[in-house]
Amino acid sequence: SDHKVSNFLRQIIQNDLDKGTYASRRWAGSPGDAAHHAAGEPDPAKIRTRFPPEPNGYLHVGHAKSICINFGLAKEYGGVCHLRFDDTNPEKEDTEYVNSIIDAVKWLGFDWAQLGQTAGSAAPYQASDYFDFMYRAAEALIEAGHAYVDEQSAEDMRANRGDFGKPGVDSPFRTRTVAENLARFREMRDGKLADGAAVLRAKIDMASPNINLRDPAIYRIRRATHHHTGDTWCIYPMYTFAHPIEDALEQITHSICTLEFEDQRPFYDWLMERLCECKLLAAPSPKQYEFARLNLTYVITSKRKLAQLVNEGKVSGWDDPRMPTIVGLRRRGYTPESLRLFADRIGVTKSDSWIDYSTLEGCLREDLENKAHRGMAVLDPVKLVLTNWAEAFGSDGYTEACTQPALPHSAIAEGQTPPADRTFLIGKEVWIEREDFEEVPPKGYKRLFPGNVVRLKGGYVIECTGCARDAAGNVTEVHAKVIPGTKSGTPGADSVKAKAAITWVAVADGVQAEVRLYDRLFAEAHPDAGGKDFLQSLNPDSLKVVTAYVEPSLAAAQPDQKFQFERFGYFVADRLDHVAGSKPVFNKVTGLKDKWAK
Ligand code: ATP
Ligand code: MG
Ligand code: MG
Repeated sequence: SDHKVSNFLRQIIQNDLDKGTYASRRWAGSPGDAAHHAAGEPDPAKIRTRFPPEPNGYLHVGHAKSICINFGLAKEYGGVCHLRFDDTNPEKEDTEYVNSIIDAVKWLGFDWAQLGQTAGSAAPYQASDYFDFMYRAAEALIEAGHAYVDEQSAEDMRANRGDFGKPGVDSPFRTRTVAENLARFREMRDGKLADGAAVLRAKIDMASPNINLRDPAIYRIRRATHHHTGDTWCIYPMYTFAHPIEDALEQITHSICTLEFEDQRPFYDWLMERLCECKLLAAPSPKQYEFARLNLTYVITSKRKLAQLVNEGKVSGWDDPRMPTIVGLRRRGYTPESLRLFADRIGVTKSDSWIDYSTLEGCLREDLENKAHRGMAVLDPVKLVLTNWAEAFGSDGYTEACTQPALPHSAIAEGQTPPADRTFLIGKEVWIEREDFEEVPPKGYKRLFPGNVVRLKGGYVIECTGCARDAAGNVTEVHAKVIPGTKSGTPGADSVKAKAAITWVAVADGVQAEVRLYDRLFAEAHPDAGGKDFLQSLNPDSLKVVTAYVEPSLAAAQPDQKFQFERFGYFVADRLDHVAGSKPVFNKVTGLKDKWAK
């Protein structure tokens, strides 16, 4: 965090701090801050940002970028970032989503506590707490001649809005008097009008080249039970009206959103100016800034389409390890550190672009490289029998312990104590990968074939002698002779040269495990580009479940513990299904290097 690359947001914030743009702010005693600060007190936060999800779904990797930007900037500049539920839309919202969002933000390592407060102690903000204020703001606009109740039909309203290059037409209701508008708006509030019968519109300019300024609707009638305010209201503010007010009430300084809101910015500023004129708000007002949303290849980030994947059973749920949701990434084995590193690495820009999926995987590898303990697992097991075992060691039942470091020397920082070594057994029978034996080796093959000498990694050097097959010709056992005196870590280890070292797990202490081999959910880089049916791009091989054998240190893993399975890549003990010792279940996070990249 000492090498932050500058970006346009940092420049804007630094400039505001240098000029003291927000230095004079005082708490207004509004509903947003009443719980935290007394009115009139100066704001100790240098800046305030916010992350304002609508609680209508699970957060995804794009939201993670937004979270890292907003919480990251606040932290960097001595500010505070608010977690705010933008819950102004009664129908689609649910407490299930509220809780999942709280979990996701905390898991990513961020907190919305005020300065001086204990982390985790603050309640998130919620836009629905401001409904009273928003209603008063709407009446104030009406009183100042800046809003009117429009009772055109929806079709007329659409037709009269005009289009690009074609000015709109004034509504016949636009010239209503203040008294008439106020009375009608109160009738809307009191439930005297049917849903959709009228809307309150800001009175700006029906000929504006920016269609968002052609008298946008700011309140609508909707009889729906709100998850927080119940049936108190039958009118609800529109997002474009609510959002700037939420920001202002919370003393937000920099309201950072994605580029699609750029055309809304003039209305944001218009509304702030009008409400300051009405003395409902005080300058300096928050300002909106836009950045490019995250577009990630092979990934879909539309909540609607993600919901479709869940509802149509294409995945096992919102937390399926193939989902780009934060719960999915977490279950897949992504760490908060890797996602923060990713957000940092992709940076903040003002123009849309695509980020390659391998960038995300690279960040995970970088984070786990020095952290994830190593271990051996055999994913496609065939039995290897060391036929001279009794001859070499006295008894076929004899086993011997092998030790290997949990982390390579390169992963141990200066002065850090290495973790305890792993211990596992070697005996007459071990599991090896089926692909590590070829009776007739292809050119360049260095692993087991009759006459070849290889090392069982961390164990003995062996010489392959052949195999046994079933009636169908499948290899049922591979045969080899152990070469005594060659055990890794003993003086004789190098006395016999091995052509290769292969991974293995002893039959004596290997534990059967379910391993879920995940690959990308979509086979195409842009699954929903150009109006394509994204379901057609699903990768049919995105999940393969195998029965593997793992060494004891892996079987003993705690749920959510990450490992590097030697030669295969990174794996995580499944948060939900893994039971240490008795029922190991691992998810593949990613391979050691990106096979998809050039
Ligand atoms: P909806 O599909 O309901 O419009 P949304 O994706 O816009 O959902 P919100 O809950 O409104 O989700 O998003 C909260 C914040 O996350 C917003 O500020 C939004 O700009 C930001 N955000 C959403 N998607 C991305 C993305 N792909 N990249 C960066 N930020 C994003
Ligand atoms: Mg949204
Ligand atoms: Mg959106």
